[in-house]
Amino acid sequence: MTADIWDVIIVGAGLSGLSAAYLFKKRNPKLRILVLEGKDRVGGRTVTSEIPAANGVDHWDFGGQWVGSTQIHLLELIKELGLETYPQFNTGKKVHHMGRPDAKVRTYRTSIPALSPWVLMDLTQILWKGGTQQLSECLAERVGWKNVRLGSAVTAIWQDAEWARVTTNTDTLLCRAVIVTCPPHLAAKIHYEPALPSQREFLTQNMPVGHMIKFIITYQTAFWKENGFSGEIVAGSSTNCPFSVTFDATSPSGNAALVGFIAGKHASQWSSKEAGVRREAVISSLVNYLGPEAASFIHYQEKDWANEDYSGGCPVNVMAPDNMQVCYSVGYSEMQQV
Ligand SMILES: Cc1cc2nc3c(=O)[nH]c(=O)nc-3n(C[C@H](O)[C@H](O)[C@H](O)COP(=O)(O)OP(=O)(O)OC[C@H]3O[C@@H](n4cnc5c(N)ncnc54)[C@H](O)[C@@H]3O)c2cc1C
Repeated sequence: MTADIWDVIIVGAGLSGLSAAYLFKKRNPKLRILVLEGKDRVGGRTVTSEIPAANGVDHWDFGGQWVGSTQIHLLELIKELGLETYPQFNTGKKVHHMGRPDAKVRTYRTSIPALSPWVLMDLTQILWKGGTQQLSECLAERVGWKNVRLGSAVTAIWQDAEWARVTTNTDTLLCRAVIVTCPPHLAAKIHYEPALPSQREFLTQNMPVGHMIKFIITYQTAFWKENGFSGEIVAGSSTNCPFSVTFDATSPSGNAALVGFIAGKHASQWSSKEAGVRREAVISSLVNYLGPEAASFIHYQEKDWANEDYSGGCPVNVMAPDNMQVCYSVGYSEMQQV
């Protein structure tokens, strides 16, 4: 065990963990805060990658990407850290192919039908320039990189009335309080001694995580815009089409791209196929909905979050029916330092 005593240890260097660390540091710069992260990077379910594009290379997000008007804390943080944002392009025809397998492919220009994914998600507003992962990098910078330990997966938390001991794959650390910010299905894998209240265990064990594969395809030009399409496709009826939705993802510097999601049962079905087969099916569906130009892409890249260590799925965990009631009855005071 190391001799250091930390005021607060935070498990997870995603947006939740790093925001918590940043808030503590702002309120009391003297607090000894340590963030422990299992991955070799910060950002958790936000990750930004460089991929080949029309003008060389550019950045795209393979995790969380959009922010909407109800995400007030995130919007405030983006402003406070001085990050730049830009609106999602959504002008032109949208493709809608839902219903029975023989349903007609329809197009529309407004947010009608009312089931437009943008309306449902309220994520219409903005993306941020340079990608979402930089938010975590900015927070780590402010918290101090020396206070963020990468490659440090927490396996157990032991506590008595006064202290908590946090065990990682390499170390055991002593602190006054622990904040666990990993997704519920992974928080459930940490060993707690003594056990946490049974309702809390029940909650984390009954919040399954979703399954989503996100892909980005870059093109020489945004041919869909030239042909009057917005890039938005909602597809649910064809068994040959892996994706549920696509949107325009042309970068702020003008590199043309589409972003799409293979989600839910489609993700489970298509993840077991070879990557090349999946890519071919995505491209031929895009040709079907947007025209033959879709076949001439520069680069296709995808990320299956079910295969990512310390995430194991995405975008979020869902509550089974009745779990909300359990959530409210968790005795937080019984959790002592955790
Ligand atoms: C493909 C995709 C698209 C999305 N789209 C959007 C969107 O457009 N808008 C939106 O608002 N949200 C979106 N989301 C969801 C959003 O990204 C997440 O809700 C958010 O990033 C969660 O942040 P977090 O810090 O709570 O959790 P995480 O980002 O999961 O951070 C938890 C951290 O804990 C670490 N960890 C796990 N276990 C351990 C352990 N035992 N020890 C140490 N560290 C551990 C993980 O590595 C991770 O870094 C999307 C997510 C994905 C993946």
